[in-house]
Amino acid sequence: MSEITPQTKSHAEYQREWYKKNREHANEQRRLYRQSEEWKAKRRAYDAANYDQQLQRRRKWTSKNRVQVREVEKARRHRNRDATNAYAREYSKKHPEYAFAAKATRYRRLMEGSTREDRIAFRKFVRFVKTTESITCYWCNQPIPIGNGNRQTDHIVPISKGGSHHPENVCCACKKCNDEKRDQLPEDFVKTHELPFGWLFLHRQLLAALH
Ligand SMILES: [Zn+2]
Repeated sequence: MSEITPQTKSHAEYQREWYKKNREHANEQRRLYRQSEEWKAKRRAYDAANYDQQLQRRRKWTSKNRVQVREVEKARRHRNRDATNAYAREYSKKHPEYAFAAKATRYRRLMEGSTREDRIAFRKFVRFVKTTESITCYWCNQPIPIGNGNRQTDHIVPISKGGSHHPENVCCACKKCNDEKRDQLPEDFVKTHELPFGWLFLHRQLLAALH
């Protein structure tokens, strides 16, 4: 009976040791290999063969990181807002029922969050904004010319974030500010937009003009 000498190291252990000693070299080799056509072709073949599995994995990851994904998507839509808006217009033309439902939701939220007096005051405010001789943007304090959709009414705290339809929560904004603010809270918006001196005073003046 010959004695069995225990094998001290497995092949995998040798590999691990080699990798530890030559880490940088190995990483560089791997990086170069991943730029090669050979690897790209292999990758494509692998992706095609495992499409369903990868789709499942992606879905799982997305549902786990929903908040993060939503933020990234929102930023992407904002970066490409012209294309996004064009797509949305086309989509609602093709699916009028969807556009109608979205409008109904906005309307329901508005009705739930406001009294009749609020709505009357809001309409008054819109009329005032559209017809008054001169008005400045609530956010950037620049005068806004009349007509052409330049003067927009903006909810200071967005309705979707619990803001009311009460006139105190409504302001006149230029197209640019309104577009950039989107559904941000004022405290988030002012992080990227410095408000001019005296903006609160201006807001109160606008409110006073209503009464
Ligand atoms: Zn502005």
